[in-house]
Amino acid sequence: MTITTEETRTGMDAGGRLAGFRRIVVKVGSALLVDQKTGLRGEWLAALADDIAALSARGTDVLVVSSGAIALGRSVLKLPRGKLKLEESQAAAAVGQIVLSRAWSEVLGDRGHAAGQILLTLGDTEERRRYINARATLNNLLKLGAIPVVNENDTVATTEIRYGDNDRLAARVGTMASADLVLLLSDVDGMYTAPPAQNPDAVFIPEIPHITPEIEAMASGAGSELSRGGMQTKVEAAKIATGAGATLIIASGHEMHPIRRIDTGGRSTWFLPSGTPVAARKTWIAGTLEPRGSVFLDAGACNALQAGKSLLPAGVKQVEGRFGRGDSVAIRDEAGTLLGVGLIAYDDGDARLIMGRRSAEIESLLGYAGRSEMIHRDDMALGARSGAPDGK
Ligand code: GLU
Repeated sequence: MTITTEETRTGMDAGGRLAGFRRIVVKVGSALLVDQKTGLRGEWLAALADDIAALSARGTDVLVVSSGAIALGRSVLKLPRGKLKLEESQAAAAVGQIVLSRAWSEVLGDRGHAAGQILLTLGDTEERRRYINARATLNNLLKLGAIPVVNENDTVATTEIRYGDNDRLAARVGTMASADLVLLLSDVDGMYTAPPAQNPDAVFIPEIPHITPEIEAMASGAGSELSRGGMQTKVEAAKIATGAGATLIIASGHEMHPIRRIDTGGRSTWFLPSGTPVAARKTWIAGTLEPRGSVFLDAGACNALQAGKSLLPAGVKQVEGRFGRGDSVAIRDEAGTLLGVGLIAYDDGDARLIMGRRSAEIESLLGYAGRSEMIHRDDMALGARSGAPDGK
């Protein structure tokens, strides 16, 4: 079924407030997507898909984090109202996720974009090897013009091993994809100094340059009506996103075309980033991870790296140490001088097999088509010796 809205693909103004962002994660809350009585809100979703297509036409990469699996599943299965038991919500998610994916696939497909479903569990963003795989898939989908549609894998997530809410999941997906904006569409229109429903003096806050203890207290204040909409988890999400160099916006998604509304100046709260996403990631690589081994490069590769290129197997003369895919390794010149650190795309055995060889030979040497870069430039912090990433 094709749903079209009255205002189709009117596009977005090149001078809009969101025009400066390169890669945006749009998080959609369950209450927006699902009506308890009538199920999926198809017309609203179609209007949102128009906005997403317009962003994409403007040259912005868009990733969606969509809630709604449990809410849809419980309406299909006719589960009673009230809090669900864990096993009930797992079953509801299994049923609802299919409905949800299909809806996204249809509305984005109608607008010329394939939807790529990604279901994550906590370990996928916490464990480095899985993180690197999930990130590569997100990037490849975007490169192919598809729109990743992400949700938590609620059918296997249990209380101890889950993100729990899609606000924080969206912030983590933003970090993983080096997005520069995370947009949380929900049923609150932003952040106030106090719960507005109870306090007539509550003042709306349009911009938050730093998340201070005062801001955190506002979000978690006792009796806060806002936190029913999860203001506390939204501020947690903002901490993750801004710490990784992204802006985070909280805005209401109630109206039709909610993204266009924000783009044209509609009410929203902006949490401002500290640094850029790539610089933040490089700081993390340089500062947090202990190198497990070393790669020694020829002079050509050293120059290529300084010029901002990735490390190809051809430029590697020697490999030292035992490490796995995604581990941190020291990057050295032939004499052993430390140039930086990076996350390597091969384990030490495979790295030894392909060093000095052309990327086109990787498949015949290893029996699988690995990445053409041994260390991607985004996974590399040069000048790490002094603890200061190069910020490129
Ligand atoms: N992952 C849940 C779902 O799709 C939603 C979690 C949330 O709303 O924060 O139903």
